[in-house]
Amino acid sequence: MSNPSDKIIVITAPSGAGKTSIVRFLLARFQQQLDFSISCATRRPRTNEKDGVDYYFISAEHFQQKISENQFAEWEMVYEGKYYGTLRSELTRIWADKKVPLLDIDVKGGLRVKENYPQSLCLFIQSSSLDELKKRLEARGTETAASLQTRLDKASLERSCSHQFDYIIINDQLNKACEEVARLVAAYLA
Ligand code: 5GP
Repeated sequence: MSNPSDKIIVITAPSGAGKTSIVRFLLARFQQQLDFSISCATRRPRTNEKDGVDYYFISAEHFQQKISENQFAEWEMVYEGKYYGTLRSELTRIWADKKVPLLDIDVKGGLRVKENYPQSLCLFIQSSSLDELKKRLEARGTETAASLQTRLDKASLERSCSHQFDYIIINDQLNKACEEVARLVAAYLA
């Protein structure tokens, strides 16, 4: 691998487009080269989530302090009142380990990374249609009617930003999408 010290890979998608599965696949396929960038978040941990593994769970006050100290490479209020952000120190930690950070972040955050780190590889995962996305979210069973509509509206807005990313990957078949992403990542890491 060429010098990985300034490389960053971003996977972004409207919610429910299969982003997390693709991130897990990449971490397994490129174990030696990639490391998951652990974000800060102010929401509560879900069952099975561990502090310092899935996220650094911190208070909103602590998060705002870090914003004022310019500690974030990017941050967003992804859902109302809930902050998420990538610490600069997290990128440095992974680079120091001679690996490339893999970021699983929302669309606005992805655009921010592209702006601040133009050398990054920013991939947009898109489900085949908004109807398909609606089916996936319904199948996941985590949404109320109102929150489902909020997510669909957000997804529709986010899809309109897709052309600002380096590549758009259509995820209508997970295996195919994973292999396509793996090819792009391998070429970027080479
Ligand atoms: P969840 O609460 O379901 O873990 O994540 C909600 C959304 O926040 C997902 O789209 C996830 O990718 C995004 N997210 C996670 N970490 C970050 C981050 O550091 N920055 C930004 N902008 N979004 C993030």
